[in-house]
Amino acid sequence: MAVEHHDLIHEFPNLRDTIHELKTTSRHFRRLFDEYHVLTTTIEKIENEVVLATTTSENAKKRHRLHLKDELHALLTANKPITLTKQSPAETHIQTLVDRAELLERRLVKIKLDAATAHSSNATEQAQERENDEVIDEIGNATREELDLIYKALERNKQGKYGTCQHCDASISDNRLEALPEAEFCISCAA
Ligand SMILES: [Zn+2]
Repeated sequence: MAVEHHDLIHEFPNLRDTIHELKTTSRHFRRLFDEYHVLTTTIEKIENEVVLATTTSENAKKRHRLHLKDELHALLTANKPITLTKQSPAETHIQTLVDRAELLERRLVKIKLDAATAHSSNATEQAQERENDEVIDEIGNATREELDLIYKALERNKQGKYGTCQHCDASISDNRLEALPEAEFCISCAA
């Protein structure tokens, strides 16, 4: 069976240049792009039967991918001018966190809407729906956990403690914050 390719460039061929540009200029976009890529790879493995999954779980993953695609498309077509004023690395990280929090909050609303859809009276369908709800719960819980870490980091920023290890008080390296702007601990304490 032929498997359709759903990588982002295939999905939005006319936005190819913008995709490349945002991948290098926006950490926020880059993260979403990676998330989409991982999910697409998983779905392709399921379609190729390299990985086994039930139809409901496959469908829930596909629906989540659709949401991710909407989020990416919104960023790609936002025409947000790239900030020319030089931001400090910390300012850039904070901006990434603020953007990411906004997106995750919107995602949670969608997940709640998904979970609230009317349930069937058919027993077989009910079993499938329960499984579907579990997948939705999993995505919802991961989203809430990430938001929690982001809000803690933003709170530390307000107190002038952003980028300081919560365990040993050392500064967290910029490379680490670049990869994980919500990091609570320096690399030694996190290890
Ligand atoms: Zn530390």
